[in-house]
Amino acid sequence: YSTWHASNAVNTAREACGGAGYLAENQLSIIRGDIDVFTTFEGDNTVLYQLVGKELLGAYADDIRGLSARGWVRFVATMARDVVAEKTAVRQVIQTILDDSDEDTDDSSLTNRGTQIRLLRKREDHLLRTCAQRLQKSKSDDDAFDVFNSAQDHLLKVGHAHTERLVLESMIATIAECEDGPVRELLWKVCDLFVYSVLEADLAWFLMHRHVSVERAKAVRRGVNDLCTDLRPHARALVDAFGIPEQLLTAPMLDHG
Ligand SMILES: Cc1cc2nc3c(=O)[nH]c(=O)nc-3n(C[C@H](O)[C@H](O)[C@H](O)COP(=O)(O)OP(=O)(O)OC[C@H]3O[C@@H](n4cnc5c(N)ncnc54)[C@H](O)[C@@H]3O)c2cc1C
Repeated sequence: YSTWHASNAVNTAREACGGAGYLAENQLSIIRGDIDVFTTFEGDNTVLYQLVGKELLGAYADDIRGLSARGWVRFVATMARDVVAEKTAVRQVIQTILDDSDEDTDDSSLTNRGTQIRLLRKREDHLLRTCAQRLQKSKSDDDAFDVFNSAQDHLLKVGHAHTERLVLESMIATIAECEDGPVRELLWKVCDLFVYSVLEADLAWFLMHRHVSVERAKAVRRGVNDLCTDLRPHARALVDAFGIPEQLLTAPMLDHG
């Protein structure tokens, strides 16, 4: 997830700097070349996502093996809903947020942490459950490779949704531990931007499965722009937080402003 993110980020940075971003002396094109390979070496990202998806499906394997159609329906109705929650070592802070926040994701604010967690959990849960159902439809003599291949889009999306939910919960748990003050407030905005961007990138899915309304979808688009406007003055502070040594910031184009 992070290597694709890095690859997209450096590409956006290169484009934002126009032709200057392409000059070797400004380093971006070199960094882009270096980062590109991270999406492939030590395992291609697509293949790694398949592994994540398969691992998550493993949670079902013992329960669904050999179930009759009737048993499968009963299983889905009673147990599958809770698989994601059960299989996740929920941090106390996340559980407290969920306990304290409104259950109804339609009415509560999109900046409500409980709503944010619920939306991403619902997506992961839904995808995982329907992926398992899809695989379950295969016949016992079907080739396992073909079965997984035909559901590959679904499996990859499970891995993606799982990763984004983990990123969100880790982010929330970590920011909650920060001292109260302007830094924490700023980081909450970064967290909001993450959620809004995730929703925006997958709006079609959230709309199609009625996890967000059309009105909310429009608010997501506006929210991304508003949050970017709010965060822009703090961009330098946020980047400096990574502690990049000054001697590495030697690109000539940085001297012009
Ligand atoms: C710069 C660099 C340094 C490296 N260094 C090392 C090293 O030090 N030691 C070492 O052992 N190896 C090294 N490698 C090899 C590296 O680990 C492999 O290139 C990497 O694991 C991807 O495997 P592959 O090249 O066989 O590509 P493939 O796995 O064949 O992937 C090619 C494409 O096919 C897709 N694909 C593959 N399998 C499936 C599937 N089942 N379903 C759907 N799509 C699939 C992939 O998503 C990808 O798009 C290095 C590679 C590079 C580029």
